Amino acid sequence: MSEYEAVIGLETHIQLNTTTKIFCSCKADSWFDPPNTNICPVCTGMPGVLPVLNKAVVEKGVLLAQAMHAELRPLSFFDRKNYFYPDLPKGYQISQYDMSLAFGGWMDLAMPEGYTRRVTIHKLHLEEDAGKTRNEAGVRLIDFNRCGVPLIEMVTGPDLRSADEAAQYLIRLRQLLRWLGVSEADMEKAHLRCDANVSIRLKGETHLNPKTEIKNVNSIDAVRNAIQTEIARQIREVEAGRRIAAWTLEWDEDSGTLKKMRSKETEADYRYFREPDLLPVRLDDAWRAAILADFPELPMARRERFVTQYGLPEYDAEILTSERKLSDYYEAAVKAYAGDPKKVSNWLMNEVLRMINDRDLSPDTMQLTPVYLAEIIRLVDQNAININTGKALLTRVQDSGDAPARIVEAEGLAKVSDDSAIRAVVQEVLAESPKEVESYKAGKVTLMGWFVGQVMRKMRGKADATVARTVLEELLQ
Ligand code: ZN
Ligand code: MN
Repeated sequence: MSEYEAVIGLETHIQLNTTTKIFCSCKADSWFDPPNTNICPVCTGMPGVLPVLNKAVVEKGVLLAQAMHAELRPLSFFDRKNYFYPDLPKGYQISQYDMSLAFGGWMDLAMPEGYTRRVTIHKLHLEEDAGKTRNEAGVRLIDFNRCGVPLIEMVTGPDLRSADEAAQYLIRLRQLLRWLGVSEADMEKAHLRCDANVSIRLKGETHLNPKTEIKNVNSIDAVRNAIQTEIARQIREVEAGRRIAAWTLEWDEDSGTLKKMRSKETEADYRYFREPDLLPVRLDDAWRAAILADFPELPMARRERFVTQYGLPEYDAEILTSERKLSDYYEAAVKAYAGDPKKVSNWLMNEVLRMINDRDLSPDTMQLTPVYLAEIIRLVDQNAININTGKALLTRVQDSGDAPARIVEAEGLAKVSDDSAIRAVVQEVLAESPKEVESYKAGKVTLMGWFVGQVMRKMRGKADATVARTVLEELLQ
């Protein structure tokens, strides 16, 4: 079977996280609202209304286009895409056709196997969403809440060669959308929807065979499974001497199977024409420069920089750049610590990240600031507190917002290395444990750990363990 390769292109619809919809002032995100409560005459297409373009939609589109290395058009237009469907009250969708906001572009995917796949972008345009229909007890129900929700449609070239590459594209796209702050990119909430075009050919061939389109895949695992299933089906068909028909397929998550849907309209059926109710979008140099003024370093570049600048392993760099706020936090902590960047990475990945995940915190609003984290690591470095106290301090600082040094001082957490203080406790422990002392002296030296533990417990973890051990060894002689 390995003589075949898959040829996959993905069409994604990205919901932008603007406050309001694309052409009216209804809320853009109505995920939690009852049906048909977030609508107005504009987004339900009442006669006589006029759409007004939401500026923020263009600005978020510009950010994404820039990140995808696409070319921005100084002048772009909206068009009407005409079709009939119950969830489309106007009878047309306002979209962009031949003169969209941007064109071209690409994204490089660093695959876990070590190679890089370049994915080209064939289409990138702004449009409005349609409503939703669903069946309930034999009745067809329509919810217009989603009508007019701002979307970017982005279509890749047929550049992906496996289900894993398709999944990786979505993982990286989701990361990028959140990094740019243009979309929450939550597939479960339909912020990021994906259709996949799949065909196969013999390895070495360059032409494209008839493809099928898979719809209704709403998680990254579903995309991977659906494509895998379809590749296997197409290979079976071709091996049996049958031709692949250009079907539209629907992925059924529960049964893990693909079902044939309606055949699709061709482009000519949509009768695109310019939207006469909207002005062209003029993206002049000043506006464009203002939008791109704070354009961030992108995740892949930052990941590579973390490896070269801080000497981090790829693994650390990948985790620390998974989210922009986390990577900002790391860099601020490294700067404040002014020591080994790998040590900061260890504390952040092992201790702080667990706290962030457990408590659902955001790195940019934590009371445990990067400066405080650096301070705690330094206190441990300087032997002022032991490592367990340091770890406990993380949550104490997060809960109270107090400076680590102040908590150490106020609660007497500083490590006790004073020989006489420890000696007194050791004597106490030995006096209370005659049986263990006897066993130790009889040769059960593994009890040393238990003795050290008792001393630590009595001193609430503050004793210098090395000193405790030395004193114990001396007195047990
Ligand atoms: Zn509205
Ligand atoms: Mn579309």
